[in-house]
Amino acid sequence: MKTKKKNFITKIVEKSILKQPRRKIKTRFPPEPNGYLHIGHAKSIYLNFNIAYRYKGECHLRFDDTNPKKEKIKYIHAIKKDIKWLGFNWYQKPTYTSDYFDKLYKYAIQLIRKNLAYVEELNPQEIKKYRGTLKKSGKNSPFRNRTIQENLILFKKMKLGVFPEKSMCLRAKINMESSSIILRDPILYRIIFSKHHRTHKKWCIYPMYDFSHCIVDALENITHSLCTLEFQDNRKLYEWILKKLNFNNKVPFQYEFSKLSLEYTILSKRILKELIKSKLIKGWKDPRLYTLSGLREKGYTSTAIKNFCKKVGVTKQQNTIELNLLESCIRNDLNQSSPRRMAIINPIKIIIINLEKNHTENLQAPNHPQIKDMGKRTIIFSKEIYIDKEDFCKKQKKNYKGLVLGKKVQLKYAYTIKAKKILKNKKNKNIIILCKYYPKETKQYKKYNIIHWVSTKNSIPVQFQLFDVLFKSKFPEKEDDIMKFYNPKSYIIKNGYVESIVKKEIIKHAYQFERIGYFLKKKQKEKNKIIIFNRIVSLKNKYKNFS
Ligand code: ATP
Ligand code: MG
Repeated sequence: MKTKKKNFITKIVEKSILKQPRRKIKTRFPPEPNGYLHIGHAKSIYLNFNIAYRYKGECHLRFDDTNPKKEKIKYIHAIKKDIKWLGFNWYQKPTYTSDYFDKLYKYAIQLIRKNLAYVEELNPQEIKKYRGTLKKSGKNSPFRNRTIQENLILFKKMKLGVFPEKSMCLRAKINMESSSIILRDPILYRIIFSKHHRTHKKWCIYPMYDFSHCIVDALENITHSLCTLEFQDNRKLYEWILKKLNFNNKVPFQYEFSKLSLEYTILSKRILKELIKSKLIKGWKDPRLYTLSGLREKGYTSTAIKNFCKKVGVTKQQNTIELNLLESCIRNDLNQSSPRRMAIINPIKIIIINLEKNHTENLQAPNHPQIKDMGKRTIIFSKEIYIDKEDFCKKQKKNYKGLVLGKKVQLKYAYTIKAKKILKNKKNKNIIILCKYYPKETKQYKKYNIIHWVSTKNSIPVQFQLFDVLFKSKFPEKEDDIMKFYNPKSYIIKNGYVESIVKKEIIKHAYQFERIGYFLKKKQKEKNKIIIFNRIVSLKNKYKNFS
């Protein structure tokens, strides 16, 4: 049996299995329900769930719902849907940090009782100032030495809603001079007067991530708590809290890996929300986004996304992945299963002058160039056909491979034609090209360049939606003025033609329209409306020339 490749995390997991063979491996994926999942989350999901599968353990889905100001039920539904779509099943029911609010409160009281936490009255700006910097050590708060009794009373009053937001908070009493800023009396609880989607108005104090995460990991018996590198420093606090609360046995350990960042894409939920608010994009499902729902809407498959995660791997090196890698994964997934058809995105009409008006001829075209079992279809050759505007040019240009006045090209699966004359239609400026065809020159001559085409007798008008990157910057999240890089061609609608066979046939997932890419037929809400095709991906890598 082929052994699966190990990464540094799976090596750690295997070591821990050797140490404690009977302990079940438990991981968790802990999204905050404050937005939709994106391709970066997919990396974390892929890692956490696969460790559970591989070592016969469990992976919990835990909603980290500790900030009712930002979290919504609709995000919970969307997150569950995306994880299922990727093909992963969480252990039993999803859990919520809010399931543990009572317990967390009691643990906070325990810390106060041990004189390890105090109620702070400095305001947020003052707290920041007192905290110091990497170069400057912090300063003790004047409220740091309250008595335990006083802290207990004030914390209870905080819970009862006596104090306004930001007027007080609960802080751990660690060390304001620590070289790790995270240990300079981190905030454990804050006051928020917003209705929580699950606990409603029961609470007006909410635990911070650093306080709740380690405790809930321990309560759920998580063995390996995997997070991204920016939490490396927080590990000290994670371990401090569990130690001080006497979770001595079976404590989870935190391990960090590098975040996925992908060229040309925005993954930050904060920026995505701004883009949605500004109406620049249609919402979280906009096909130009690299949210899982955006990718799905465009036509990506979950297999392609999982293969991408596999290729990206898990390391501690922070680097930006080429968009070409993701695109090659979807092409590879679709190549085998997608029937080939011909479509014209920018139609220009051709009239074959040496054919009778109503002449039609049935020709055979393979549905897949390599897979014979996919069979053949009939295409019709007739007097009027469409080719793509880009495949016609009056004069020969350097390296141009289309039809040129006075020269020949091969129509795919049909005949060679020669362009004889251009007809201008003054009303709408469309042009028609008069061509002669050569009935004896059928097979694909190596001699001529090949172009795709459809016949007016055998095609239907359809709409194509073509997508490109939203911003022409390799690192849009790092730009000061992101709008300078906005790509006005990121979403283009084209009206063209495709072989009529696509109207009714049911296929596995997508088509390859020859020479232009893989396309998804969108579900039609109303019958008899024009059919829309999304371009999932073009056939060639193109993200080389920007910036
Ligand atoms: P925000 O955008 O607010 O920073 P977030 O992306 O961290 O939020 P969470 O819901 O907290 O969103 O993330 C859930 C999990 O997904 C976390 O464990 C986080 O480390 C992981 N994660 C988030 N972004 C990435 C990424 N780009 N690559 C890998 N893992 C990620
Ligand atoms: Mg987060």
